[in-house]
Amino acid sequence: MTEPLRTLVLPPLGSLPLSRADSDRDGVARVTEGLLDRLWETPETRVLTLVRGKAPVTADALLLLAPSDVQRPELVVYLGRINEGAVDAGAPVVLAVLPEEDPAIAPTQGWLGLREIAASLDARDAGLFVEAAAIANWHATHSHCPRCGTPTDVRDGGWVRQCPKDSSQHYPRTDAAIIVSVVDDDDRLLLGSAVAWPEDRYSTLAGFVEPGESLEAAVIREVGEESGIEIQSPEYLGSQPWPFPASLMLGFTARAVTTDAVPDRDEMRSLRWFTRQQLFAEVRDGTIAVAGGVSIARALIERWYGGPLDEEPSEARP
Ligand SMILES: [Zn+2]
Repeated sequence: MTEPLRTLVLPPLGSLPLSRADSDRDGVARVTEGLLDRLWETPETRVLTLVRGKAPVTADALLLLAPSDVQRPELVVYLGRINEGAVDAGAPVVLAVLPEEDPAIAPTQGWLGLREIAASLDARDAGLFVEAAAIANWHATHSHCPRCGTPTDVRDGGWVRQCPKDSSQHYPRTDAAIIVSVVDDDDRLLLGSAVAWPEDRYSTLAGFVEPGESLEAAVIREVGEESGIEIQSPEYLGSQPWPFPASLMLGFTARAVTTDAVPDRDEMRSLRWFTRQQLFAEVRDGTIAVAGGVSIARALIERWYGGPLDEEPSEARP
């Protein structure tokens, strides 16, 4: 088994809700001949079912089932083995992507999406749900060969799709996106309200990394495009998978060299610089709403703020 993620040093942003995990993806086992058939016949195997991105939840935990309790669907993916110390330690887990909710599976909290339940799940279940949602999303949109259009076959435990006509192999994709807390010399934070959001919603600037672009260049370009602000020395703070449908959010902070923020009207409705006291007051009285609890945006904002946004900023902070 490879080293479990939980023993790694935490990034400056700390433990992000969707970056938690307590299982070993066991990638070397994926190529084993007949792996999924054997796992489906093993009573110890736990099955995580997913229907259009929703999983069954009972008592703030994923409802994992025995293979005999689930009608095996067309798409099954090996997710790995649960780590020692976690519930069901050592058990292999497979994802079963069901076409619709099975009435025989009756979770007490219902079928819930990752964003609805992630904050209440433990590390084991958060990790399994994120992995399952991400790989299921990839399969849902990559059913055919991008070279010749032939429907592809699933292999390697569900982690590769292969074209039967030209034998090309296709691997799961992840879209890198940067997100950045921009801070000026007065230690104010830049937040923007996007055209696509409700008018009172504000968050840190973000955008996809373009082909052939470094992360640092993407941070500088996105901030420039969306706000006209020049920044220097983007500093990496941590990452979080965001499988809606396929992003990996890479969090940065950067110091603004200029402060005249001009919203790019196609994407940004308004841009504002906040002191901690202003942000606290406007969030408290409902003038603005900021990004939610499981987002990396929230973690970036609270790192600058120095604590939870629902608590007054400490005296030492402006
Ligand atoms: Zn092909």
